Amino acid sequence: MQPQPDEIVFVLNPQAGNSLQPRTLTAICHAACEQAGRAARVIATRTPGEATETARQAHDAGAAAIFGCGGDGTLSALLQGLPVGSETALGAVPLGTANVWAYETHLPSTPMAAISAQLAALDGIQGQPLWVDTGKVWSTRADGSIAEQRFLLMASWGLDAAAVSGIVGSERRGRLKRVLGEPAYFLSAVQEAIGRKAWPVAISVDGAPHVETEIGLLTVGNTRMLGTWLEVNPHATVVDGELDMLMVEGAPWRALALSPLARHSWLPNGPGVTNLRFRRLEIACLGEPPPNQIDGDPGPPTAYAIDAEPGALRVLCPNPTSAVLGG
Ligand SMILES: [Mg+2]
Repeated sequence: MQPQPDEIVFVLNPQAGNSLQPRTLTAICHAACEQAGRAARVIATRTPGEATETARQAHDAGAAAIFGCGGDGTLSALLQGLPVGSETALGAVPLGTANVWAYETHLPSTPMAAISAQLAALDGIQGQPLWVDTGKVWSTRADGSIAEQRFLLMASWGLDAAAVSGIVGSERRGRLKRVLGEPAYFLSAVQEAIGRKAWPVAISVDGAPHVETEIGLLTVGNTRMLGTWLEVNPHATVVDGELDMLMVEGAPWRALALSPLARHSWLPNGPGVTNLRFRRLEIACLGEPPPNQIDGDPGPPTAYAIDAEPGALRVLCPNPTSAVLGG
């Protein structure tokens, strides 16, 4: 069924970590919209590709907003289907493992409260819709073709991405994630760091000449948090038109050893640690390509450019005073 103009579309991800029954969640979506005087359409999707296609249709139909009911991966799938500057706003019903977007923008944690608060923002009753930046990663696939993927939160290369790939690619670690939640990523990072060498790359910031180095971890954040534990880009906002980079040079275990500092939002520039802000970053691989993740999805391990997309996405912010929103 196609979305209709002015509808609020909800995309259900039955695979998300939460145990809420789809029927219960559907009833909550309808009840929250009815209270706000809006029409709801609830669509269950089986794959990220279906979620992306639903977002594309919602945009084409002129839907007022599309909510991802799931984790940050569900939001990422919807983002891929919304063109830059789409008037269809992206909303979140936080039902995943970490829910970083909801955490950073201070959304209520229960589905009913989260939907009601964001609909109040849509109508300007409390908070407001806000145009925020997104990022785009350009990758060269093995066959030479170019892949592009947008992100709302963060892309990373090196240890963090190896930990994510380790969970996606291992049945045992996947089970651990379902049981432990976020700590499973840290355990996966410890396993990946053992005996791993740094990845040789050359990086160029905003058109400057490439500089050769070896990285253990490189994060590019539109937002601040890697998961909800590590604040790797403590000064990032999604409204400044730029992206924040943290680079830890040297072997991956070094990035792991520094993680207690990021836990307390304190990872200053120093030997082998670089924080900076950019519009365009280019990463050329000089040896084995570092693993890559984009909003939690493993990406193609090849050559990259990363661009900021200023004010590209409309989101619903009941709490615009949150720091990442520039409040
Ligand atoms: Mg920024």
